[in-house]
Amino acid sequence: MHQIPRLGRRLGTVIGSLLVTLAASLVAITSTAAPAHADACYTWGRTLQQGATGADVTQLQIRVAGWATSGTIFSIDGSYGPATTTAVRNFQSAYGLGADGVAGPNTFSKLYALQDDDCTPIHFTWGEVDDVCFGGWPAPVSGTSVAQVKANLMQAMWRAEAIRHRLGDVPLRVTSAYRSKACNDRVGGASNSNHLYGRAMDLVPGSSASTMCGIARASRQSFAQVLGPGYPDHSDHIHLGIQSSVFHSASQCF
Ligand SMILES: [Zn+2]
Repeated sequence: MHQIPRLGRRLGTVIGSLLVTLAASLVAITSTAAPAHADACYTWGRTLQQGATGADVTQLQIRVAGWATSGTIFSIDGSYGPATTTAVRNFQSAYGLGADGVAGPNTFSKLYALQDDDCTPIHFTWGEVDDVCFGGWPAPVSGTSVAQVKANLMQAMWRAEAIRHRLGDVPLRVTSAYRSKACNDRVGGASNSNHLYGRAMDLVPGSSASTMCGIARASRQSFAQVLGPGYPDHSDHIHLGIQSSVFHSASQCF
């Protein structure tokens, strides 16, 4: 009869130590699973991996699109498939993180470090990509909106951030991105230019640390459309476009 209370005490001790272990685990989980957000832009609330879907996947895809497989179309669709796994793995590898293709606390921490409060990547600003003729955000051509233009430009800036890092963190200069209707009329631009929709960005070296061809080569992993030296009228800038078919042409470079 005396064994029951002894058993009870032993169980109590075991349960007590389990609770201590559990409490310690919870502290550990809390401190690693939900990294503090670094700014006013966006905070991920869960680890993401292949099979996940949702707006948080979309936010991740916008930021890793520049690390996709060269010559493929990377879809920003909120669905974490094999292409997203590859892009995350390439991103992790490029920034010295464990490259497992799973977006967890370390990956998110790096992304927080790379973005400003307004969600643009740290080395590019809205002021560099706004209307190339007049500055600011004059109305786009019909069929699109400033909000859509800015969403596209956000994607372009993150892809450019990847190019910049791939080249060894060298400065790059944007010479043209958004072109409003008034701007396009003024310069006599093509009626279907990606620049009208914020889907294109022209880059040149920002210092002697990079070359036109260096940028062109480094861009192939980040943009479906890459036009550079050797393509007509593209000897003095690299045109980068987000579009639904792959076209890379810079015969003097590759
Ligand atoms: Zn262009």
